[in-house]
Order: sequence, then structure tokens, then C-alpha cells
Amino acid sequence: PFDVLVVGGGPAGAASAIYAARKGIRTGVAAERFGGQVLDTMAIENFISVPYTEGPKLAAALEEHVKEYEADIMNLQRAVKLVPAADQGGEHEVVFESGASLKSRTLILSTGARWREMNVPGEAEYRNKGVAYCPHCDGPLFKGKRVAVIGGGNSGVEAAIDLAGIVGHVTLIEFMDEMRADAVLQKKLRSLPNVEIILGARTTEVNGDGTRVTGLTFEERVSGEIKQLELEGIFVQIGLVPNTEWLTDSSIELSPRGEIVIDERGMTSVPGIFAAGDVTTVPYKQIVIAMGEGSKAALGAFDYLIRH
Ligand code: FAD
Repeated sequence: PFDVLVVGGGPAGAASAIYAARKGIRTGVAAERFGGQVLDTMAIENFISVPYTEGPKLAAALEEHVKEYEADIMNLQRAVKLVPAADQGGEHEVVFESGASLKSRTLILSTGARWREMNVPGEAEYRNKGVAYCPHCDGPLFKGKRVAVIGGGNSGVEAAIDLAGIVGHVTLIEFMDEMRADAVLQKKLRSLPNVEIILGARTTEVNGDGTRVTGLTFEERVSGEIKQLELEGIFVQIGLVPNTEWLTDSSIELSPRGEIVIDERGMTSVPGIFAAGDVTTVPYKQIVIAMGEGSKAALGAFDYLIRH
């Protein structure tokens, strides 16, 4: 059995594994896809102290750094079930799709999250070529340009306000006839001179010239009329879904949005089980934040181990 078993191999999981292994304890990392969301990213310009890198390069560096230590890396392993220890200080069990199962005195859950996609033609083709999901990450790439934000919930309206300060013009497109965002955010958005809001509109296609986004097509839901917008960027803000489906039968407390609830040391509601990164309730989903949280959870797990 392991002392620390990390489930998930993104920035949070890699940081957890390194911090745990450096304590000289038996450490394992099991991940469906080592590297995580970083593998789907191109330019990264906010990884502090590294002015520019690219996702696949950072993912390779994460793996290389973990391999400096005696941590067991088990890639292509999808966890499907968690059985918490029967008593405090006992071993927790993680069951994988392959049928294998692993036991550990502490766990660090870092299975991340995924952006909900529109699933319209052109979206996948132009991902990272104008289609973006993270305004903190990609906003500055569209300085002075025209962009759309899809979604009028809090994250969409926050993104539109944020982008309006950087880009030339923002069109917010909401499917329903009203935005769901908090009133104060809506008021702020409406006060901005370079923002247009289109309600009751269904985005049907991302348009491009083969290399980059050139616009989008939407349908006015009431009239059924098809319209087009010319723009360079589309920020999809229709939800970030935590990868916690595999935990619904465990006793780990999840928030109403399905995120794992943790305390200030990264511990979940079950003693000895920790969590870190995008899968938790910690706000602002970013690489540097996930790494900090992963390091913190590993130190929390170590603290737990020396007391039990
Ligand atoms: P993830 O990176 O999501 O990693 C989760 C890990 O868990 C993966 O290894 C996954 O395979 C594994 N996993 C999931 N489910 C299971 C399971 N059931 N069993 C086993 N393993 C499982 N952030 C920035 O700071 N700067 C940027 O420029 C930036 N750009 C981005 C661009 C894009 C297109 C995207 C999608 C995200 C971007 N982000 C950026 C956000 C950043 O990638 C995330 O905040 C960060 O990767 C979160 O790290 P994490 O380790 O918590 O989760």
C-alpha cells in the first residue's frame, strides 16, 4: 500500500506527488491522462517566472519532474470508485476501470475539471485558434479585437466585463431571454460602452477561414432568423464541470456544483482524504493555483500521516 496515492496527473497532482515523494514516503500517482488540461492548451503566458510556454511542453516537464523522485506513475488509469477506510488511520481503496485497485493511507484527489462545450460545428476545429474557454489565460491574446462571450451566467458576465477592458468589442450571447448572472454584474456589464448583449440566441456554428476564427452564426430563437457576427475570438462560458462523477457514491462531501469541499489544509470531509486543484471548491481555476493547492494538500497529508 501507499502512504500517499494521488488520483489525477495534472498540475495539482504532479505538485502533490513531488511534495509527498520528497518526504521519503511511498507515493503513487494514477491518472487517466498524465498532464491534464494542460495537454489541451497552446500558449501559456501566466505561469509565473516563465513568460511563455506551451501546454505539451509544460505537461512533459511535469512528468519529468515527478520522475526525478521515487513515485510510481500509473498513466491511463481511470478511477471509477472510492472506498474510504472503515476506521481512522485505516487504508482507503481506489478502484480503476481496468479492474485493478490500489490502497493507501492517504489520498489526494486531483481529477480536475472540464469546460462544457457548445458542441457546434467549428468549435473543436478552432479550439486554441480563436475558440477559448479561459479569459484570465487567453484574454490578452485578443487585445483590441472583437470577441463574443457565450453564456450569461456569472462566469460569462464576469468574463465579458473582464474582456471589455482588454479587447476592442465584446458581444455577449445568451440562449435564454434573460441573463442569470447576479444583478450587480449585469448592471456593470450594461454600463460598458464597448459591449453588446444579445438575448434569446442560439449559437449554431463557429466560422473560420481554415486557420482561425472569423465569426459565428446564431439563430434568433423567437424569429428563427439566422444571423452572423464577424469577430476574432469566442469565449465559451457555459460551465466548468468538476470530474467527480466517480465520487458520488463515496461519503466525500461535494458542493451543489459537484466540487469537492476542502478545508484550509486541503482535507475533505473524510479524514485522510485530501483534494486539490480544479476539482475542489477553491475559486479561480489556474495552473499556478492548482500547483500551490496540490503542494498544500501533500503537506496536509504528510501532517496527517505523522499523527496517525
Ligand atoms: P487537470 O489539469 O484537469 O488534471 C486532472 C487530471 O486528473 C488529469 O490527469 C486527468 O486525466 C485526471 N483524471 C480525471 N478524471 C480521472 C479519473 N476518474 N481517474 C483518474 N484520473 C482522472 N491555466 C493557466 O493558468 N494558464 C493558462 O494559460 C491556461 N490555459 C488553459 C487553456 C485551456 C484550453 C484549458 C482547458 C485550460 C487552461 N488553463 C490555464 C486552466 C488549467 O489548465 C487548469 O486550471 C489546470 O490544469 C488544473 O489543474 P488540475 O491538476 O487541478 O486538473
